[in-house]
Amino acid sequence: MTSESLANGQFLHLSRFSPERIPCGENYTLRDGTVLSVLAPGVMQLTPATAPSRGLKHIVYSCGIHGNETAPIEICSDLLDSVITGDIKLVHRVLLIFGNLPAMNIAKRFVEENMNRLFSGEHANGPSNAERRRAAELEAFVTAFYATAAAGEEKLHYDLHTAIRESKNEKFVVMPFLNDGRHHSAKQFGFLHACGIQTYLLSSAPTTTFSYYSSATHKARGFTVELGRVKPFGENDMARFAAARESLIRLISEDDFAPSVDVNSLTLYKVNQVINRQQEDFSLHFSDDTPNFTDFTAGTLLASEPGVSYEAQQDGEAIVFPNAKVAIGQRALLTVIPTTLETMDV
Ligand SMILES: [Zn+2]
Repeated sequence: MTSESLANGQFLHLSRFSPERIPCGENYTLRDGTVLSVLAPGVMQLTPATAPSRGLKHIVYSCGIHGNETAPIEICSDLLDSVITGDIKLVHRVLLIFGNLPAMNIAKRFVEENMNRLFSGEHANGPSNAERRRAAELEAFVTAFYATAAAGEEKLHYDLHTAIRESKNEKFVVMPFLNDGRHHSAKQFGFLHACGIQTYLLSSAPTTTFSYYSSATHKARGFTVELGRVKPFGENDMARFAAARESLIRLISEDDFAPSVDVNSLTLYKVNQVINRQQEDFSLHFSDDTPNFTDFTAGTLLASEPGVSYEAQQDGEAIVFPNAKVAIGQRALLTVIPTTLETMDV
C-alpha cells in the first residue's frame, strides 16, 4: 500500500469497512518529509519532518467517539487528505483518531454503550464489549503519543462532537474539571473562540469522558468541543464549520497559532444541579425539543419524580443535555448558571 492509497478518504473508508486491510505498524514518508504512522484502524499519527522554531506541540484530534456525529469525522478525514497531498504543511505532531467505527457504519451514537463514558479506566468496570476494548486501546495510543512530549511542550486534545439536540448556542465547549492546581487557559479560550465558539461550560467534577482523561491523566489541555447539530454523512453544511476547520488546520501548520480573546466577552457557565433519574416514573417539565441552554426563572419546575421536584434555583438557570430516558441512577439533566473566571493560566 502507498500513502496515496490512504488519501481521498480511503484511510477512513478502509478503517470502517475493511479494517483488516489497514496496514497497522506501517510508516509512510511523504514528499515533504512528514511521516504517517498507521497505528490501528481509525488511528494515525502524523510526525512533521522538522520541529517548529518555537515549542513543538502534541495535538490529538479525535472525532466519531459517537458514530453518528459526522461533521467532525468529515473534517478530520479531509485534514488527513490535505496532509497527504501536501496542501497542509505539518509543523506539529498530530494523533488523529476516528473513534467508534462500527457505530459510524450503522449511523448510531454507539453500538452497545456510550463510549464517552468509558475513559479513565471505566472501560474495565464491566463486561467487555467492542466499545470498552476501543476505549482502552485509545487510552493506550494517547499515552504513547504524549510520552515523547518534553517538559513544557504543549499537550492538546480536542475531542470533536456534534450535539443531538438543538442548542441556543450552536457551538459550545465542555471544559474538564481541573483538580490539579491548574486553571483554565487564556490561550485555549483564544483558540476555541477562533473556532467559532462563544459558550463554555466549566465542569465541576471528574468524569469518564475522553477529554477529561487526557486532561487529568496526561495534564493535557483537553476539551469536548460541540460544533453543531448531528447530520448524516454528506448532509452537513460545511460552511457552518468553516471557522473550526480553518483553526484546526492553522494550529497544526503554523509555528504558534495563538489568537486571543477577551474572556469577559465569552459566555461562561458552571454546573449548578446534576439531576439523576432515581425512579421509573421520572419526567421533565419542558418540551422534548427545548434547546440546550434554554434558561428559566427561579422556582420553575424542571423535573419531577414521585415525592421529589426539581426547580430552577435562580433566574437564568439553564438546562443542558436533558434525557428523561436514561437508565435509573444516571444523569437525566444538568442545570448551569452564568459564571466568571477570577484566575487563568497563560
Ligand atoms: Zn458526541
